[in-house]
Amino acid sequence: MILFEGKSKIVRRGVCDDSLVLFYTDIVTAFNGGKRAEPLGKGRLCAAVSNLLFAYLEQNGIKTHTIKIIDEASVLVKKADIIKIEVIVRNVAAGGFSKKYGVTEGKVFDAPIVEFCLKSDELNDPMINESQIIALNLASKEELLELERQSLYINTLLCKRFEQAGIRLVDFKLEFGKVGGEIILCDEISPDSCRLWDIETGAKMDKDIFRQDLGDMLLAYEEVLRRLEHWTN
Ligand code: C5P
Repeated sequence: MILFEGKSKIVRRGVCDDSLVLFYTDIVTAFNGGKRAEPLGKGRLCAAVSNLLFAYLEQNGIKTHTIKIIDEASVLVKKADIIKIEVIVRNVAAGGFSKKYGVTEGKVFDAPIVEFCLKSDELNDPMINESQIIALNLASKEELLELERQSLYINTLLCKRFEQAGIRLVDFKLEFGKVGGEIILCDEISPDSCRLWDIETGAKMDKDIFRQDLGDMLLAYEEVLRRLEHWTN
């Protein structure tokens, strides 16, 4: 039974009440659904990259929602109370940041930037500050500090992992949830939710290929997976 259909994932009831099945569809959207395509195999590639990165983060002490990989596009996950905040971490200026603040794409920050956005398709995920989050009861001060701490640690771990694969982690988005009071990493980390640039050539290897009509996104996603898998073995 389908419980929820997101922009690129379908959520079904799991085997028991405290689990869910996430199915990665091939649908890719940009500009809050304004642009849409369905390249065959995209879901499988995002699932594979995300599963690999979540396993790596787990090995390094980050708690995630993953219970078990079911098949190439489905994952059994813990049912969590999703925190309605998207955390964006930026190492290099690009995308929304460059546009909003007039900063040249490619400027490397001395220290990573952490941004919070309200998770709301209707409102186009607006940026939200700490006191607004607390006033709206979206998270407590302590929880926000924990989200920031975990996001920065995840950034350190991911930068290292991508660098081994010859990829620069420009920016990415994380989502968290709570299970029994504990904050865990949810959703996905894939070329759909990160900006990834080839370290040698600067070529884009992420959803910007689709957003900006730069070519075959699947070839780039496959290459990201191939390189990450290579560095696992
Ligand atoms: O658009 P913006 O530059 O703010 O996005 C920053 C990063 O977060 C990008 O890697 C983008 O793919 C990701 N993101 C996302 N989902 C959103 C907003 C941003 O995956 N709703």
